[in-house]
Amino acid sequence: MNMSELFVKERFSWRSLGWLLLYFWFFSCALQLVIVLTGHSGTTGLRDSLLYSLLWLIPVFVFPARTKIISSVLGILLWATSLIALGYYSIYKQEFSQSVMFVMFESNSKEAGEYVSQYFSLKVLAILIFYTLIVGFLWRKVRPVYLPLKYKVTVCTLIAVVLFGVPLYKKMHNEGETLAEASGYLASRMSTTAPWQYIAGYVEYRQQLESMTEMLKQNAALPPLANLKDANGDTPRTLVLVIGESTTSSRMSLYGYGRQTTPRLDALRKSDPNLVVFNDVVTSRPYTIEILQQALTFADEQQPDLYLTKPSLMNMMKQAGYKTFWITNQQTMTKRNTLLTVFSQQTDEQFYMNNQRTQSARQYDDVVFAPFEKVLTDPAEKKFIVVHLLGTHMKYKFRYPEDATKFVGREGIPDGVSDSDVEVYNDYDNAELYNDYVVETLIRTFEKTQPNGFLLYFSDHGEDVYETPPHTVLGRDESAPTRTMYTVPFILWNSPQWQKDHPIDYAPYVDRKYSNAHLLHTWSTLAGLSYDLQEPGKSLVSPAFRQSERWIGDPYSKKGLRTFDSLPYTAGGK
Ligand SMILES: [Zn+2]
Repeated sequence: MNMSELFVKERFSWRSLGWLLLYFWFFSCALQLVIVLTGHSGTTGLRDSLLYSLLWLIPVFVFPARTKIISSVLGILLWATSLIALGYYSIYKQEFSQSVMFVMFESNSKEAGEYVSQYFSLKVLAILIFYTLIVGFLWRKVRPVYLPLKYKVTVCTLIAVVLFGVPLYKKMHNEGETLAEASGYLASRMSTTAPWQYIAGYVEYRQQLESMTEMLKQNAALPPLANLKDANGDTPRTLVLVIGESTTSSRMSLYGYGRQTTPRLDALRKSDPNLVVFNDVVTSRPYTIEILQQALTFADEQQPDLYLTKPSLMNMMKQAGYKTFWITNQQTMTKRNTLLTVFSQQTDEQFYMNNQRTQSARQYDDVVFAPFEKVLTDPAEKKFIVVHLLGTHMKYKFRYPEDATKFVGREGIPDGVSDSDVEVYNDYDNAELYNDYVVETLIRTFEKTQPNGFLLYFSDHGEDVYETPPHTVLGRDESAPTRTMYTVPFILWNSPQWQKDHPIDYAPYVDRKYSNAHLLHTWSTLAGLSYDLQEPGKSLVSPAFRQSERWIGDPYSKKGLRTFDSLPYTAGGK
């Protein structure tokens, strides 16, 4: 070998770099690309895996002579870890996340195993084999990439700075976060890239578990409700609480909306006198955690911290002798949702149906049907079942299957909605339509078991989807509130048996002005529970109900509160 051959051999080659990039990108980006192309979720996961896969270039740039051995060792690690994520996605249609860790470690792993064996098919096997063949093909194409020393140093430094330096600096310097918080952010950015998804997932899982355990410990130490009495004694019964999500009542035909978005509930109201629709219920806060920590506890806008010092609705039902269940299609074990997981853990049995990495991923509420049916057959005499839906949470298009689309075009949409917003406006109405199907199916499923009991459905808060004039507002914002963000459906279905034993005329109650911050008091009346802390004045269905101001806003900020009824009917007004 002479000198010129050596020189040629060690020259930088764009083609080699291209194959090397493809090789390392493939492990994490293949799945992310599928997720984006199938419309399962957004593009940030793909962007992050493109970025964080670049890390593997550093060792092969530094030791180009060892490229084949480095890429083989890394390849085996990346292949094995990405194969698990790919297999998991093929079976469950969910990305691997800290929620998966939580369900793996906390719930019945035998059931999970059964599920895998039920859905592990030849198709899944074929996907995994095909995937492995491509890995093998790319591996054969891997060649060393020779960089002159100064480029080597520059490129490797640049990669390290972009991947780690920039995000850490942004979080710590610009946003004043601690190193631990910034590392948590970094972990979430890396959570789509093999093999970091397991490490990041595990770190996040441990962090959430720690804060959850602490909150559960505090809850367990609370004194029980004094003088709790159950007017229904030991009669067997099943009570169901269905919590909706981001579903505003002003977009339901059940509440007078022009488009027929709730045909099933409309029909049920006509045919079944046991369906009671309450017309004027609002929420106190337009955010899931913030409102549920009031609705499901004694806290409200005036006493926002009572959720920490008094028993919750779940505690109350358990104390009253119910076997309690929690079925949820909301994300579990994310930092934001820790309190929700704490609430769920206050019940006897949990079913976590949503382990998506992001709340806005494609996920339908029909997943709650199977566990709901299962729980209804539980032999316990007194059952309390909470079903927490994903409802009409953004991204609206991902809340219903495409073939369930009904609303397209401009018909029935206010003129002020701009052409570019029509699609999202329609998506939301289609999501409302699917939610109608879900809620009605839950009622019908419940009815079929000939239960003694009732089902109460309400939405945690509303959502403004270009509805309030001038039709430019999208979403929810406590600092720029519109009525639509607060108006919620509130629907009660009594079983014939329950109605017979509790012949209450709801007609005088249905137009009462109410805030679901006081839900627990209404629930107590409905369930026939009494105790020292009870305030019948805050119960929508009590003869002793006293109408009070419906406070909205952040109770922890100075001048944070105002009343719902003071809100204007247009956006942007004060
Ligand atoms: Zn919500």
